[in-house]
Amino acid sequence: MSFRTPLLILVATFLFRCAEKKTVTQMNDDQLRSYANELAHKYIIADGHVDLPERLKEKNLIPVSEHLDIIESASEGEFDYVRARKGGLDAPFMSIFIPSSYQKKADSGKSLADSLIDMVVAIGDQLPDKFSPAMTPAEVEANFKLGKISLPMGMENGAPIGNDLANVKYFYDRGIRYITLTHNDDNQICDASRNTVHTWNGLSPFGKEVVAEMNRLGIMVDISHVDDSTFYQVMKLSKSPCIASHSSCRYFAPTIKRDMTDDMIRKLGENGGVMLINFYSAFLDSAVASQSQRNDEKLAYLLAEKGLHESDPLAKPIIDQFDKENPLGKTDIEMVANHIDHVVEIAGIDHVGFGSDFDGVDGQLPTGLEDPSKYPDLIFILLKRGYTEDDIAKICYKNLWRVWNKVEQLAKEG
Ligand SMILES: [Zn+2]
Repeated sequence: MSFRTPLLILVATFLFRCAEKKTVTQMNDDQLRSYANELAHKYIIADGHVDLPERLKEKNLIPVSEHLDIIESASEGEFDYVRARKGGLDAPFMSIFIPSSYQKKADSGKSLADSLIDMVVAIGDQLPDKFSPAMTPAEVEANFKLGKISLPMGMENGAPIGNDLANVKYFYDRGIRYITLTHNDDNQICDASRNTVHTWNGLSPFGKEVVAEMNRLGIMVDISHVDDSTFYQVMKLSKSPCIASHSSCRYFAPTIKRDMTDDMIRKLGENGGVMLINFYSAFLDSAVASQSQRNDEKLAYLLAEKGLHESDPLAKPIIDQFDKENPLGKTDIEMVANHIDHVVEIAGIDHVGFGSDFDGVDGQLPTGLEDPSKYPDLIFILLKRGYTEDDIAKICYKNLWRVWNKVEQLAKEG
């Protein structure tokens, strides 16, 4: 072999690499779509918030193995095995959702939380070739290698902690890896963005202890749904980076207090955290948001007339009927990319990810992003907008992984 041979190989490799890079930018739409699909399956896709347990609970579809909704849902819902696989979704955080009405119950929703956790565990037990629980990023990675969908869990509403700090450890031991401090109403921990009462002007004294205990144990603090005052106090108090498990930018829907302002996005970035973008049309687009608010006002009036609160079980059929008669408009998939762009502009590429709210928004999802099978279409748009493969990997899971690993590591270090 002459000395020229290795040199030729080097030159050829260099030229090949250049050609490879060129082809990415020169791809036509079809090629770019197939590249997007490849990336969706090459990397883990994590989603901060999927309401499958709530959908199953509502239909009383337990035990899970006796129905096919989780494997392939013919008519309703968004998350199922077939669509998740098609889109490359590997780690949907299962939402253990406790409606505000449970805050008034004697056990503050603890038994509901337990039953939903049992349901998620049962999915893994009964469909072990398809699903597996996961309590750490490393466990998700191991499941990914085996071709299984991981089911990590986050609890939406800290109500079930009650007034007993020991319950934080209880839920950690049950596998909960983030807690959304509250839902639509102020609770014993903090004020909510949908409430106007300002019970605590942020965190309650107990809520401050809860945040510290979550830091100590290694549970991610989720600031989705909280009032701005709560958010800023959490940013000051939390020793670990935080997440917004399913939140969008208020810049695009200024009247939605549930969305995050630019300043909050900046602060969450400085905290080292990650904002996982919610796909609910009314949180993404001001036109849909206005329509949604008009509907909310009409519905509130209707419920008040009957002496009901929106979270009362008796209100459910009335709300369902109202939603049917007053359908919301939808935004489109490009708008989700706009929100991602906006977070990147303000906080940088290291602080954004996906938090769809699939199965939690009554189908009010953007056109083109109706269910998890459409993840490659979102990646396609991001590639078209100039995001690199590294950027896509960060958005798909690496940003959330950084936070999750850091929260674990800080807890271990004490
Ligand atoms: Zn929510």
